Amino acid sequence: MMPLDESVVTDGRGSAARDGWERAAMTATAGVQDLFSVRGRNASEARERGGGPGMISFTAGFPDPVHLPYEGVAEATGRLMSTHGQGPLQYGAVRGYTGLLDLLIEKLGRDQGIRCAQENMLLTSGGSQALALLIDLFLDPGDTILSEEPTWSGAVRAFANVGVNVEGIPLDDDGARVDVLEAKLRDLHARGIAPKAFYMIPNFQNPGGMTTTLERRRRIVALAREYNFVIFEDDAYFDLRFEGGQLPTLYELAGGSHVAYFGTFSKIVAAGMRIGWLVADKALIDRLSVLKVDGGSPFAAHIAHEYCKDGVLEARVQELIALYRHRRDLMLGELNERMPEGITWRVPEGGFFIWLDLPAGLDATRILAACRERGVEFLPGTACFFHGEGRRNIRLSFSYADDEQTVRGMRALCEVIGEQLTA
Ligand code: PMP
Repeated sequence: MMPLDESVVTDGRGSAARDGWERAAMTATAGVQDLFSVRGRNASEARERGGGPGMISFTAGFPDPVHLPYEGVAEATGRLMSTHGQGPLQYGAVRGYTGLLDLLIEKLGRDQGIRCAQENMLLTSGGSQALALLIDLFLDPGDTILSEEPTWSGAVRAFANVGVNVEGIPLDDDGARVDVLEAKLRDLHARGIAPKAFYMIPNFQNPGGMTTTLERRRRIVALAREYNFVIFEDDAYFDLRFEGGQLPTLYELAGGSHVAYFGTFSKIVAAGMRIGWLVADKALIDRLSVLKVDGGSPFAAHIAHEYCKDGVLEARVQELIALYRHRRDLMLGELNERMPEGITWRVPEGGFFIWLDLPAGLDATRILAACRERGVEFLPGTACFFHGEGRRNIRLSFSYADDEQTVRGMRALCEVIGEQLTA
């Protein structure tokens, strides 16, 4: 493995370098700030990724840095350059490199049970751009949408940036509470408000870790038809299932109508490649392709294809499942052994996260301040809620810190919580 380039890595074991856009926002002159769009004005809070030098980071959903496919991608790049000439260095088709689309179509059919063709697909710059494009297609400032809550902090920011009203749907062990969803839909429609979308992460939810049951998936699809909203099905962690059987996607259950499905290579190949995909009805993809002015990176798409083909992706996924299952179990072992009474969590069947519920009297922000002094960081729950809740929640990512750091970091966290419980 090559050493990490600290000017590129913005988290965790690397440096705490700030993103360019944050720097730009901070140095904008007052006059120029008056020119900001609604989105620009909404984007006021700097994002929290954590990861100062020497910190043990349970903060971001970053893949394990040691297991990034350095050699495999280096070889694939060499092969690509010698067999494809300049082609991948040119602009490409807006929908993305067809070789990778075909590889994904086969994978989605085999693993996800999704039948789709190139006309139903769009390559994106990660799941983040897939969500951004769906927001572009469907949402105007002031629109109302529904979302699981808590949810992925990136989605919280994306919805806040555009200025939509988000109605949160709480979750339990079986996924989003469909009884609440249905009551909310009825109530909103009675008030003349028709939510346009429901954002959900059905597998190993970020941050909660739960998986939506088949019965609830069916019910949500039926509600989407009845109340005419689109399900934004974010399946970023689908492949990282440690145990139990896969459930059908909502896209498949709905026969492709009222659902836009998206996934990413960030968690299973390399987040730095910025490769994701969107699957939807042809009519939606046609419009999304017009909205997507940026053609993405044909170079990254070619390398991803060259690297993944011939069963390499499947073998890699199996290795990652073993790695992250081990890390989850290591973290759970420390929690079971050392976490004081009163703090609860569920065992995720996959994904990257364990979500802690803290009892009254504890505050995640105060715990974080004390943990930082001992060199440990995590994501406070507030980043995952739309309206400031989550003070009594902690999201722990077990994907990034190595074994030794995980054990050391968890011991410090449990100690800090013990101290603050008795203070
Ligand atoms: N969805 C979820 C639920 C995520 O956790 C993430 C990454 N943290 C993403 C989407 C997007 O990641 P990317 O843009 O790297 O594909």
